[in-house]
Amino acid sequence: MAEFSRESLQQLDAAHHLHPFTDSGALHQKGARVIERGEGAYLWDLDGHRLLDGMAGLWCVNLGYGRQELIAAANAQLQQLPYYNLFFQTTHPPAAKLAATLAEILPGDLKHLFFTGSGSECNDTVVRMVRHFWAEQGRPERTVIISRHNAYHGSTLAGASLGGMKPMHRQGGLPLPDIVHIDQPYHFGEGQGVDPHAFGLERAQQLEQKILELGPERVAAFIGEPVQGAGGVIIPPDSYWPEIQRICKKYDILLVADEVICGFGRTGHWFASEHFGIVPDLLCMAKGITSGYIPLGAVAVSGRVANTLIAGGEFFHGFTYSGHPVACAVAQANIAVMQKEHIVERVHEDIGPYLQQRWASLGDHPLVGETRGLGLVAALELVADKTSLTRFPEEAGAGLVCREHSLDSGLIMRAVGDTMIISPPLIITREQVDELIEKARCALDLTLTTLSNRQGK
Ligand code: PMP
Repeated sequence: MAEFSRESLQQLDAAHHLHPFTDSGALHQKGARVIERGEGAYLWDLDGHRLLDGMAGLWCVNLGYGRQELIAAANAQLQQLPYYNLFFQTTHPPAAKLAATLAEILPGDLKHLFFTGSGSECNDTVVRMVRHFWAEQGRPERTVIISRHNAYHGSTLAGASLGGMKPMHRQGGLPLPDIVHIDQPYHFGEGQGVDPHAFGLERAQQLEQKILELGPERVAAFIGEPVQGAGGVIIPPDSYWPEIQRICKKYDILLVADEVICGFGRTGHWFASEHFGIVPDLLCMAKGITSGYIPLGAVAVSGRVANTLIAGGEFFHGFTYSGHPVACAVAQANIAVMQKEHIVERVHEDIGPYLQQRWASLGDHPLVGETRGLGLVAALELVADKTSLTRFPEEAGAGLVCREHSLDSGLIMRAVGDTMIISPPLIITREQVDELIEKARCALDLTLTTLSNRQGK
């Protein structure tokens, strides 16, 4: 692949490509990293450097790179029927079969699927669907959706509004009307010194306070990621989700689980709702549904909601690529491989606990204030003082320093502020987990040196 040098690609990229979630000015000064190929849990850049992909792309390449079963399924479907739509009383085999397969692996009575092209489109669908549901129930005033600060639900207008990211809201006058936020169950960041169980209950009970403040007759739904991903792998205390479910039931408010990251084995269950013991009315999935090989999302819908929608005439909503046949065929192959290789069980019983045990060993590092994780997703908090758990000043950019050292050490680890996070492919081996931990420790050591040198100056 030598027709283009790294430099010429970087120049073309800088001249014509506007990147998502990127400071373009800063990128142009530096030049984009060019990733050229992947195999298993590894990526290679154009200069031939090998990187262990500790983030599975963007939390999605669950089966790793280069799975022939997925590539063959895409090829076969491209030959058979590369595209047809699902509007106007039509279906095709990949969509019908995938809906049935998902209905089998989903928890509760989530037996109906609405296909989309992405996680953001799932959440836009949720907003329209729950409002339509309540209107059909004769309760059109039930329009408000409650979410959390620091949630991530996507980048479309509704997705970003449901999300609780202030910098996103500032660009474009969001959130949209009738989307409100309560505090997140982030114990390390916002509950220091409080018993975690009590903290989880307090944060969940903010939902009840908000419902009463708004008037229960106005509230349509509550949405949350079982484990907040982009917000920094925030795993709520065990008391949190059951209390949320109790409150939703009490006021007859729909519970929406955004499992775009958590679904498809990430937490050691097919869906994290099972781990937290909740039964959502709607569940969003994307990313791992195809191991990220091709875009696809789906909203799973419970019987009560589906029956109301079915009885309600036409739902004026859908995308050209809702249930794209090639994406559905890849998802079907992805699920088949997961079942054949017992991927979910392996994350639950073997590789998940192994990663968590090894990740916890980083807790002795002088920079680490907390380690946490579940299944194959984990985080650690960088602190300036391990005893008082004081953070570095924001301008120190400790997380970014650590991310760069990690990359230089051959590991892709992501920084959310000063929270370092990982979410590796589910096919990662024990040896690769050892390599990940060794590289993460190396990055922490180098970060400590960099930050100490700077302080000394
Ligand atoms: N919901 C969650 C929980 C996510 O993590 C993401 C993406 N990181 C989205 C929704 C949006 O998905 P997409 O980028 O496919 O639109």
